[in-house]
Amino acid sequence: MASILSLLAFAMFVPQARASNAWGCYHWARTSNPFTLKLGDNVSFTWDSYLATTTSISIGWSASTKLDTTIVTGQTNPRPCRPTSGRVEVCDASYGNTGWLGLAQIWVNGCHITQGVAKVNDTYFDTLTYNTPGWRNLVMCQEVGHTLGLDHQDTNFNNTNLGTCMDYTSNPYGPPDNEYPNQHDYDELDIIYGHLDSTTTVSNATATQHQPPAMNDLDLSAPGQWGKLVRSTNGGRTELYELDFGGEHKVFTFVIWADGNGRGRGR
Ligand SMILES: [Zn+2]
Ligand SMILES: [Zn+2]
Repeated sequence: MASILSLLAFAMFVPQARASNAWGCYHWARTSNPFTLKLGDNVSFTWDSYLATTTSISIGWSASTKLDTTIVTGQTNPRPCRPTSGRVEVCDASYGNTGWLGLAQIWVNGCHITQGVAKVNDTYFDTLTYNTPGWRNLVMCQEVGHTLGLDHQDTNFNNTNLGTCMDYTSNPYGPPDNEYPNQHDYDELDIIYGHLDSTTTVSNATATQHQPPAMNDLDLSAPGQWGKLVRSTNGGRTELYELDFGGEHKVFTFVIWADGNGRGRGR
């Protein structure tokens, strides 16, 4: 009986919700701050201004004191959107009725991010519901935010906006506006990047050299390839998946499903 009670007590103290939006130990390794993360531009003309906004030094991720994001020529095609060691590739395409509006994937070795991709699905952004600057800014900002090591601040679509793109909403304009990062996100980046490492994965072409080759040879566009579901919220509208290759090598996939397309919905 006592052991059952203590087990119960333990279960009750397992945190249910994340108090902050750092979701693990995951971060880019670097030997000094601020560091500059390259974002490969594989997006079409329509998305260029949104990508520029999300990297902005005034209202985007580069306003962080710990890091800058800079747009560089993409090294992949939008459809495979293959990762490049040491940086993030950003892509858009009509990926089809996959259900997902946007997704972000990071490859990690231990706690260190070695590469990432952020994808937005034009199949949904070309519809009346999502073809707005508000949705485009929110999703672009959020997917890039995940590649920096950030989680959502809030995953309830129906409460008052927190004023950050890392908060889910049914109305990006709020008020307050959920199109850009807020101070809490910058504070979180200060914590995540508060230490320095002895190695660097940023802009490191060999950051992935010790990864199993299979990790780079993935077709990661469909849920079947994302590995195990780590977390699901809002009846499946936001989800996190993990592919474990052993030896601390993992690929994480953050997904936001288009309204009505959550796999948990209506199931
Ligand atoms: Zn570190
Ligand atoms: Zn997300």
